[in-house]
Amino acid sequence: MSQHERSAAKSGPDGVAVLGATGSIGVSTLRVMALHPKRFQAVALSAFQRVSELREQCLQFRPRYAVVHAVEGAYALQHELDAAGCPTTVLAGPEALEQVAADPAVATVVCGIVGAAGLKSAWAAVAAGKRVLFANKEPLVMSGHLLMDLAAQTGAELLPLDSEHNAVFQCLPPSRVGLGQAGVRRILLTCSGGPFRNTPASAFAAVTPDQACAHPRWSMGRKISVDSATLMNKGLELIEACRLFHAAPEQVDVVIHPQSVIHSLVEYVDGSVLAQLGNPDMRTPIAHALAFPDRIEAGVARLNLPEIGRLDFEPPDETRFPCLRLARQAAITGASAPAVLNAANEVAVEAFLAGRLSFAAIPEVIESVLAARPVVPVETLEAVIAEDEGARRDAQQAVAARGRKGAFA
Ligand code: NAD
Ligand code: MG
Repeated sequence: MSQHERSAAKSGPDGVAVLGATGSIGVSTLRVMALHPKRFQAVALSAFQRVSELREQCLQFRPRYAVVHAVEGAYALQHELDAAGCPTTVLAGPEALEQVAADPAVATVVCGIVGAAGLKSAWAAVAAGKRVLFANKEPLVMSGHLLMDLAAQTGAELLPLDSEHNAVFQCLPPSRVGLGQAGVRRILLTCSGGPFRNTPASAFAAVTPDQACAHPRWSMGRKISVDSATLMNKGLELIEACRLFHAAPEQVDVVIHPQSVIHSLVEYVDGSVLAQLGNPDMRTPIAHALAFPDRIEAGVARLNLPEIGRLDFEPPDETRFPCLRLARQAAITGASAPAVLNAANEVAVEAFLAGRLSFAAIPEVIESVLAARPVVPVETLEAVIAEDEGARRDAQQAVAARGRKGAFA
């Protein structure tokens, strides 16, 4: 019996808070947890707008808390859950997310909210010394070194759910010494190339949100799908890798691998390159991190290499996909640059999804905001939030300045 199993046997199942339970990551997490009811107990589930889906999840998992955004939604949901005999208490608002993330009954917090909206609850989980499973990469990009420092103080255990970082984590030695000491030469992040891998840049102005969200390999929320189409997702992941693994930007490379079977690799100084493979299904990294260091069934189809036949690789094209270049530059610049990059990207992607900005103009908006804002140190959570808010205002202006000319027809 492993140490983890022994502690589970002594004290019952692990209490899990799933923040962003109704999203793509949240639903996959609950599917894995449902396979292991003796091992994991949902203590808190949260949603933003999909309250009826949250109600169904509460009826199935009977958590102690459900968190919604608006107070009105909370009253209605509480009434429905009470009528169904469900023991859940409904809370509302961003502070409630922080409250459940730090709740003593919670051992593991799954950060599945999208964007900077997940920053404060992730911070609360790390401050409370929890096991924190990070899917929500934006907080790590904005304030990763602060979160890593906080984790070192509180003993929080940060485990990556992002498939690439989970793969890197699996390929690094268990001792978790520094990369240099471990003999690591570089981290190699794989990238599917997104839906426009072979599309000429001249066609980007006419791309619609639905085309951008039609990812060839992964089924995900709309924001990360657009990020995958611009390759900003890989840029954010490059910064995320620097934060999580204490790597310098020049120690992290990106390779296009359209089949998405190798989820990332670690190259050692002796020439060995270790890779983690699997079908592109987030339940694998989720199961890995939920049970770490044990291995549990994830419900995922087994990898059939003869059926896949071949694995291809090519270098990324930073001319057609400038977001990758912008993110690498922000990683090198450091200080406020990653938070500014992230904020400008969130505003530009939202404007694109709302039909107010063309796909081709997304990197233009980000580049103009980065160029105009002075780089400042960000050594507190408040400083990160201030930079985030300032960059959002600048990005809104940059979007408005492009007007209808910037939107697809
Ligand atoms: P999604 O859009 O499917 O789900 C987002 C979740 O966050 C929903 O539950 C929604 O209710 C909640 N939410 C949205 N805005 C909120 C707000 N302002 N306040 C509180 N809650 C809010 O997104 P997703 O695809 O599940 O991605 C979630 C995060 O995980 C993102 O940061 C993404 O980059 C990362 N990620 C996702 C995948 C994937 O396969 N989906 C893979 C790797 C990393
Ligand atoms: Mg990823």
